[in-house]
Parts: sequence; structure tokens; C-alpha cells
Amino acid sequence: MENRFIYADNAATTAVSDEVIAAVTDCMKNTYGNPSSLYSKGTEAQRVLIGCRERIAKVLGALPNEIYFTSGGSEGDNWAIKGTACAMAAKGKKHIITSAFEHHAVLHSCQALEKQGFEVTYLPVYENGIVRPQDVANAIRPDTALVTIMYANNEIGTIQPIDEIAAICREKSVLFHTDAVQAIGHVDIDVHKQGIDMLSLSGHKFHAPRGIGLLYIRRGVNIPNLIDGGAQERGKRAGTENLPAIAGLAVALESAVKDIDSKNKKNCRPARQIG
Ligand SMILES: *Cc1c(COP(=O)(O)O)cnc(C)c1O
Repeated sequence: MENRFIYADNAATTAVSDEVIAAVTDCMKNTYGNPSSLYSKGTEAQRVLIGCRERIAKVLGALPNEIYFTSGGSEGDNWAIKGTACAMAAKGKKHIITSAFEHHAVLHSCQALEKQGFEVTYLPVYENGIVRPQDVANAIRPDTALVTIMYANNEIGTIQPIDEIAAICREKSVLFHTDAVQAIGHVDIDVHKQGIDMLSLSGHKFHAPRGIGLLYIRRGVNIPNLIDGGAQERGKRAGTENLPAIAGLAVALESAVKDIDSKNKKNCRPARQIG
């Protein structure tokens, strides 16, 4: 008998697609140089790295030098939240706004900051699973360092009014981060147009391998380095790049955003209709 297995836990992780496996394998076999090496194998790897960063930035509406590769969504969330908190505490701003149903990478980062003397406001999401922009506006104080609200929820799929929340933060000069791990490939994202200051993604939620992701940090937003060392990721996250995974991430991201409209039509009920 044919053994058919239907995988239905794509919010937990996705299977790596064939085209991603091909890109990762090709990079491992052929582009094994260190992008920091100055001879041909290195410069070739550097070229691939630059190309991937450009393609990824284009998909997100960002500049290439606003893309920082990370090990995944948890790292991006931690860096954005704790990094901003650290930078803003120096200016006397020690208040953070988030929602009650964020991923643990966000909630536990906020709780860790509370232990260090930060104050966190957890906004309600009501019966429809949506954060109200007016609640964000009301919660912002002169000492608010950051607003971090996820783009789409990993358990119930509701999509948040990110444009409105970003506009409120911009108007009040408060930095805005969004965990878009579950949103990418389901909604159109353009970080510059939407006024998003920081955005985290995780590859393994859209058919790239585990252990690779990115944090978009808008130019002009200054958060401390995550890993000190070499000059990788503009000196902010040192360590030899995981180029095969980055090559896979670029392919996966381009595929994920293809035909978002037709994908949403095919799915019986787009998430935003919940409630
Ligand atoms: C999976 C997930 C993360 C964590 O991503 P990792 O790459 O596994 O660290 C963060 N946020 C949301 C919403 C997720 O679904």
C-alpha cells in the first residue's frame, strides 16, 4: 500500500523545497570559499553573498545593507528588542509595548527586560485576535523605547493592522519592530512603504533550512552589535556567513512571495477573515 503522509504543521516548520535543496547543494559544492578571503574562491563567494542580499532586499522593499542574516526568528526578535532596549535605556527610555499573544521569542525577551528594570505593556488582542491601533497610540509614553507587534499570529493566523501601527509609531517617533515570521508569503510586505523600522524572518517557516533568518534594520536605526568579531554583517553580527543557507533563503523568499493573491484565493479562508 502506498504510504501517504500529509504534513499539516507548516506553522511549526516547513519541508525544505527541492529548489532550495538544489541552491544549498550547489553552493556547498561550488561556492565553498570564505566570502572574506581575498583570492578567487573568496571573491566568488562574496559575489554570491552580495547577490543574495540584493535579491532578498528587493523582495522586502529594503536596501541590501539593511538586511542582517541571523540564525532565525528567535535571534532576530531578541536582537531587535534587547538591542533597542539597550540603546534607548541610555536615553532614559525604558518602556516597551507589545501584545499579549506574541511568540515566546518576543514575550520572553520582554520578560527578561522586565527583570532588568524595563516596563512592558502587553496590549490585549480581543476576541478577534487583533491589536487595536488606538490602543497602541494610547499606550505610547514619552519614555517608550519600542513597539513590537507581530505581523501574523502563529497559532490563530490573524493579521495585524501593521500599516496603521507603524504610522502611529512614526508620528510619535517611537521605533517599531514586527515579527513577520508567519506573515511572509501570505501578505505583501514592503518595509519602506509601510514605515517598518525592524522586521524579523525565519527561513524554516517558508521552505528554507532551519537555522537561517534575517533581521531588517532600517538605515539610521542604531542598535548595538549582536556578536563582536569580524566585519561580517556590517560588523554587527560577526562570524563566517552560512552561505549555503543564505543561498537557500534567497530562493525560498522569492518563491514565497510569488502569487500571494492566487495562493490566498486557493486557501479556503484567508486568515484576515477570522472573527
Ligand atoms: C517560528 C517562529 C519564531 C522563531 O523562529 P526560529 O527560526 O525557529 O527561531 C518566531 N516568531 C514566530 C511568529 C514564529 O512562528
